[in-house]
Amino acid sequence: RPGLTLVATPIGNLGDLAPRALATLRAADAVLCEDTRVTAPMLARHGVSAKLLPLHEHNEEAATPRLVTRMAAGERLALVSDAGTPLMSDPGYQLVRAAIAGGIAVSAVPGPNAAVMALTLSGLPPHPFLFQGFLPPREAARAAALARLRAAERAGLSATLIFYEAPHRLAETLAAMATALGPRPAAVARELTKRFEEVRRGTLEELAAHYQANAARGEVVLVVGPAGDEPPEAEASLDERLRAALAAGE
Ligand code: SAM
Repeated sequence: RPGLTLVATPIGNLGDLAPRALATLRAADAVLCEDTRVTAPMLARHGVSAKLLPLHEHNEEAATPRLVTRMAAGERLALVSDAGTPLMSDPGYQLVRAAIAGGIAVSAVPGPNAAVMALTLSGLPPHPFLFQGFLPPREAARAAALARLRAAERAGLSATLIFYEAPHRLAETLAAMATALGPRPAAVARELTKRFEEVRRGTLEELAAHYQANAARGEVVLVVGPAGDEPPEAEASLDERLRAALAAGE
């Protein structure tokens, strides 16, 4: 049927492409993808020839009205990202919003997502959870983002936290978390669904020390246990912390 279908693709193991994902991609009038150099070989491997259209952070805003018009005229469009579930730290949110606003049918073929897989393997409470995606890469902005999370915890938030991170920043991010969040159980899930899949569990400090000594390789998700029962912070101190976080972020 006409409209938009979000199609999840593997995060490392080609066997994870669902039969319904393949059928949807085969039937689509066009497949919107982040990078044709990633999606074209994946489809070719499965014998699917589809018309590929690029949709990435640099053209999503400009391309969206045209794509909504095409769907309104009866086209079936599928959206994939390079890996995993579209929109999850990947393009597609603006298109989904515009499609909903335009009365276009939006559906999904669910499948792999690194955040949920890491959460379920972490040994930490599965819910409530907060998916942060990537923290800002620069030190000051990252510290500010962590301070905001900490302030939310001081105000009562108690959720397992999930982060994406680049491997070369993993050790410093773990150390920054240990400083900002205090002693906490955590897990690093690496190379999920791939040959060298590994989940390492420990405190933030232990994990920071481990990855300082052994540089992480491949793709990683960081899962941090919820805030425990800390002594309530005085209002004035909380205000101060929020002010510092905002100042550091601007
Ligand atoms: N849309 C994807 C999803 O649903 O998981 C995530 C895309 S995001 C641009 C890429 C990040 O996801 C990586 O930097 C890493 O943090 C995480 N990631 C993706 N695949 C992974 C894997 N196989 N193992 C561990 N982390 C992975």
